[in-house]
Amino acid sequence: MMTMMIAVLPGDGIGPEVLRSAIDVLKKVAPDLETVHGDVGLECFSRRGEYLPDDTIDLIKASDAVLFGAITTPLKAEGYRSPILRIRKEFDLYANLRPVRNPAPGIGLVDMDVVIVRENTEGMYTGDETVDADGVDLRRRVSRAASERICRFARELSESQGRKRVTCVHKANVLRKSDGLFRDVFYEVMEGSDIDSRDMIVDAAAAALVTSPQDLDVIVTLNLYGDILSDEAAALAGGLGIAPSANLGDRHALFEPVHGSAPDIAGRGIANPTAALLTTAMMLEHIGRADEAASLRGAVTASLSSGHRTRDLDGDLGTYEFTEQVLSRL
Ligand code: ATP
Repeated sequence: MMTMMIAVLPGDGIGPEVLRSAIDVLKKVAPDLETVHGDVGLECFSRRGEYLPDDTIDLIKASDAVLFGAITTPLKAEGYRSPILRIRKEFDLYANLRPVRNPAPGIGLVDMDVVIVRENTEGMYTGDETVDADGVDLRRRVSRAASERICRFARELSESQGRKRVTCVHKANVLRKSDGLFRDVFYEVMEGSDIDSRDMIVDAAAAALVTSPQDLDVIVTLNLYGDILSDEAAALAGGLGIAPSANLGDRHALFEPVHGSAPDIAGRGIANPTAALLTTAMMLEHIGRADEAASLRGAVTASLSSGHRTRDLDGDLGTYEFTEQVLSRL
């Protein structure tokens, strides 16, 4: 069997702290995987004068999957292009997948098990802004091809995971043509599927996450709505410290915790590594290691359930102490 190679891009702030936990755990559950570190982010810029060097791009190209930590956006951002947005674009990682569930019973404000599939390449995030004397125009793009691709992704994911319902979230009552196209394409793509297909206005979906999350299962939505709803859902299910995500294309895949580099707590050894560990489980599943993914998720849940928690979850453990709890349960 060919050895699989994982590119590890820790980045800035708590990125390296939580990825250290992820790598320690990975070495225990899947010791045959090769991990190769690459440079990215602000700290890389201060050493090498670039945020995303070519050798990191080459490393991603050669890898079977990428584990990404977090990056700090520079304060003076003139001409700055976010490395993560560049990677998403260059490797055509069109689907942003954010499963949100409470990592253990009793954690979070609301019980939920929702998968948010977010279109990652267009919508409000074209970055195409034109300034005039009085204001700014933004060109917002919704194409049939990108809508079809993401809705098909959501359908296939729902079918393969045995999910029961897919809800298309949009604002087609106001954005009649653009969001209307997204909604129409969604129903076309879902035709012939046994999965219950519905659509919902984004404001109603934001409320439903709080009041009736059990009615939601898989959500497929445009870029901006997916960004906001997934942070809302993560906050309800236990906070940023527990939320994993994947950026997927047809050939490449990048896995990252939803949280950023958290400069306010970086360097103190107190960051919650749960998001990074659950992100690692998603990566294992993606490369065909479902058993290892399940045992990692089980060890995280068991650690949290027996009261071992970091400060963001009202516990008193540091990053490494929590990681040791997980390691001891693997
Ligand atoms: P960035 O600009 O890199 O996105 P940020 O501080 O704006 O950084 P986050 O890094 O997502 O955004 O952090 C938001 C808040 O959540 C911060 O108060 C941070 O300390 C907290 N936080 C984020 N991730 C974690 C974690 N893994 N463990 C504990 N707290 C976290």
